[in-house]
Amino acid sequence: MSVTKQIVCFFLVIIIQFKRVINMLIIGSHVGFNSKEQLLGSTKEALGYGSNTFMFYTGAPQNTVRTKISLDKTKEAIELMKKNNIKLENIIVHAPYIVNLANNKEIDKYKFSINFLIDEVKRCEEIGIKYMVLHPGSHVGLGLDVGINNIINALNEVNKHNDKVIILLETMAGKGSEIGTNFDEIAKIIEGVEDKSKIGICLDTCHLNDSGYDISKFDDILDELDEKIGLSFVHCVHVNDSKNIQGARKDRHENLGYGTIGFNNLINVIYNEKLENVPKILETPWINEKPPYKEEIEMIKTKKFNDKLKEIG
Ligand code: FE
Ligand code: FE
Ligand code: ZN
Repeated sequence: MSVTKQIVCFFLVIIIQFKRVINMLIIGSHVGFNSKEQLLGSTKEALGYGSNTFMFYTGAPQNTVRTKISLDKTKEAIELMKKNNIKLENIIVHAPYIVNLANNKEIDKYKFSINFLIDEVKRCEEIGIKYMVLHPGSHVGLGLDVGINNIINALNEVNKHNDKVIILLETMAGKGSEIGTNFDEIAKIIEGVEDKSKIGICLDTCHLNDSGYDISKFDDILDELDEKIGLSFVHCVHVNDSKNIQGARKDRHENLGYGTIGFNNLINVIYNEKLENVPKILETPWINEKPPYKEEIEMIKTKKFNDKLKEIG
């Protein structure tokens, strides 16, 4: 081999290695957030699972009681993240699921939801969180069009008070009157949101399956999404198997490889090149009252199914 060829090869290897480092798998799970340790506790928990990202609720997911963000704990947490190569920009907040922007039957509750989200955006900004996942809402009999309209108006109101946070609409399973069960509905909402820099999508594999999408044809799903909305709007993927068959409209998460989607199909989602730099978050059920995330993340990193997973605890 000539010297020039050797030099070219040398640089090619360097570039490939470098690309690998910047395109590292971004994987984590839902973690707790307690009022005392706050983000520091969440970070420690995530590190214990071998994660390099995580998702948390700023309080209990099912209520809107929230404690003030401690700047000291946040600072300590960010230092710990830096030491462990966790990027703050990959951390996700999930808005509580009782917030329903689609229902304006009771105007007080609708306004409460909007005001709560404005506060949640402020909390995210205080910490430096870039992405907040939100269930679009349920129209509870008002009809799809009215529901979508309510969501759009609410998001535009929230964004008047939002400088930095990108709100990610989660794809939903289709339980009851949930909105956001296909890309047409999500596209309509995004179309109505005035500030497109503050809106995005979070794909949930269990929800996609339950709403009727075939995860074994994930590239087709991404093609449809790209055509109707644009892949650049995707900033988070919830990786869950499902207890129910495709199209069941149920929403019951299962551990990786133990549900109807299957381990290999989920691995293909996680390692899909088009979503390379998008954080992947596990929201799979605990096993014997123990979080399964360390074991499941190990399964993902090694791409090897663990048939003893259900025996932990
Ligand atoms: Fe969710
Ligand atoms: Fe989810
Ligand atoms: Zn779910």
